[in-house]
Amino acid sequence: MKVSEIMNGLIARTPNELEYHQAVKEVLESIEEVYNDHPQFERAGIAERLVEPDRVLMFKVPWIDDKGKVQVNRAYRVQFNNAIGPYKGGIRFHPNVTLSTLKFLGFEQTFKNSLTSLAMGGAKGGADFNPKGKSDIEIMRFCQAFMLELHKIIGPEMDVPAGDIGVGAREIGYMYGMYKKLTHQHEGVLTGKGVNWGGSLIRPEATGFGVVYFTSEMLKTIGQNLEGKRVVVSGFGNVAWGAVKKATELGAKVIALSGPDGYIYDKDGVSGDKIDYMTELRLSNNDVIQPYADTFPSAIFHAGKRPWEVPCDIALPCAIQNEINEDDVMNLVKNNCICLCEGANMPCTPGAIKIIQESKLLYSPGKASNAGGVATSGLEMAQNAMKLTWGKDEVDKRLHEIMVDIHSACVKYGKNSNGSIDYVKGANVAGFLKVAYAMLDQGIV
Ligand code: NDP
Repeated sequence: MKVSEIMNGLIARTPNELEYHQAVKEVLESIEEVYNDHPQFERAGIAERLVEPDRVLMFKVPWIDDKGKVQVNRAYRVQFNNAIGPYKGGIRFHPNVTLSTLKFLGFEQTFKNSLTSLAMGGAKGGADFNPKGKSDIEIMRFCQAFMLELHKIIGPEMDVPAGDIGVGAREIGYMYGMYKKLTHQHEGVLTGKGVNWGGSLIRPEATGFGVVYFTSEMLKTIGQNLEGKRVVVSGFGNVAWGAVKKATELGAKVIALSGPDGYIYDKDGVSGDKIDYMTELRLSNNDVIQPYADTFPSAIFHAGKRPWEVPCDIALPCAIQNEINEDDVMNLVKNNCICLCEGANMPCTPGAIKIIQESKLLYSPGKASNAGGVATSGLEMAQNAMKLTWGKDEVDKRLHEIMVDIHSACVKYGKNSNGSIDYVKGANVAGFLKVAYAMLDQGIV
């Protein structure tokens, strides 16, 4: 495989899909060596087949707003690869959603799901619908209209969507209701369901918990732990909330949170009621972190700034893609940050990653460290299939074990000769090999 040849072909076919190119290039570069050590991969065209999604459904979602006006959004489901299990991946409702975003996320999801060691292929979906400022009824109408089309290509053994940015328990509920009405089936077709109707305990917290479990494993490799560490978290959404909760529980102090409007620095740490307040803030539809500083006098709001200028030991980006650039990383390195563990998907720009890799910062890509969310979705699918519900401790224990195993796989394939660990390479190679061998076994399909 020649990465440049595959990239040139991809860019020529899809010239405007920049995020997608970024994700593919990163993976291909880190698997190049292992790929070329296996001539059977080249013979079977594994790389060429991997970079094309199995199929993409693009559809319109017409719905009626509270003023009686017809609105139309554009939606997609990208079914990327089902070599190791049914397609699985979240649904994102955000005005910036494009086919490129969803292809990048679906591609990444394929390797992430492989890392969890559960039987799940990769997919992603969503719409350029902005839930901010919409009434509850408008959200319901939109979700129902979205499912009216999506239900044709999903099913418990075919494709099992979940939540992502802009899609939480409420939206999953409205979509599930419509799916059930259309198909007459009460089955595990979506994950992130309410606990009273098939959802798994711990699923809301799982991604953030997993990020912190993974961070803890990374710290162990340098003989450290979370106790007393200063942590900066970006975002205040679902992943950020779980991460803050677990980091605090394990003895760390979260000193900053951020929103699209800036960040808050809280000298006393984000703990107790303040963590519950994050949920309140998220549900308020206000789109900003500033009210945190109005509510808690220990916090100062820094308008229009990113939180990476705050001196910290651990950085957990949990908001959105490309939220850490070169300057941000240089700030972290200058301030002696020891670990950057990604909660969001692709939060670091390629330039930022280059600087990280030249530094001594411990760094994990989201596909490894944020895999706890989809892993717990996999546990939800298992519970649905068995028609059983596991207790909170049981799910948390399994989640913890999965994160420890993913960390071990990264170490196995990413250990450098000087003893340091390249988590990007480790995660990409471990995730890739399982998918590639499954594709080989199943022939050219
Ligand atoms: P949410 O919508 O719950 O939260 C996203 C958070 O980021 C919100 O607080 C949002 O604020 C904030 N935000 C948006 N833009 C910016 C910005 N430019 N600067 C700072 N903050 C910003 O989404 P999730 O927590 O579910 O997802 C966050 C990330 O984690 C995404 O990359 C997602 O793909 C990834 N992820 C999520 C998983 C999950 O289980 N939910 C699983 C694996 C990965 P506001 O709401 O005001 O826009």
